[in-house]
Amino acid sequence: MERVALFPGSFDPFTLGHLAVAERGLEMFDRLVVGIGVNASKAGLLVPERRAELIREVFAGHASASEGRVEVELYEGLTGDFCRRRGIRHILRGLRNPADFIYEHDMEMANARIFPEITTVALFTPAEYIPVSSRLVREIITMGGDPAGFLPRGIDIKKFL
Ligand code: ADP
Repeated sequence: MERVALFPGSFDPFTLGHLAVAERGLEMFDRLVVGIGVNASKAGLLVPERRAELIREVFAGHASASEGRVEVELYEGLTGDFCRRRGIRHILRGLRNPADFIYEHDMEMANARIFPEITTVALFTPAEYIPVSSRLVREIITMGGDPAGFLPRGIDIKKFL
């Protein structure tokens, strides 16, 4: 049976930290669906469709290991409901620090109760990516700086703003 995981998040924007999680996820699963959770009441920096384009560009130009194995989709509503609609039984998340752990554990417990068939897999972030966050990238952009060092190689964020 094909092993598929949903990697859900805001990805505003997708960073080197997200890429580290996705690459390790691709070692464990046959395919990844990167799901951009759309929250109509939160504007964000990049509009959701641009976030998706950026992620597609990352994997289009990426090592052949991900060839055709990463799909990017937008979804609204509960992540577990999206998994059910797609028949996906694994959720992939990344853990940087104790704050992430507390949040992810709460989410996992809630999901396990509502969607008992779904298993959450959380991966520890490689140390070099712990300081990387979408929020930091957004702040650098807002202050007029260049966030390229936090983004996957070759991504020109200006194209997606
Ligand atoms: P959300 O709003 O759902 O937290 P994010 O886009 O911020 O969405 O993050 C999506 C997932 O990626 C989360 O599991 C988050 O912990 C993880 N993540 C974010 N940044 C990093 C990083 N630098 N290293 C590893 N995981 C990360």
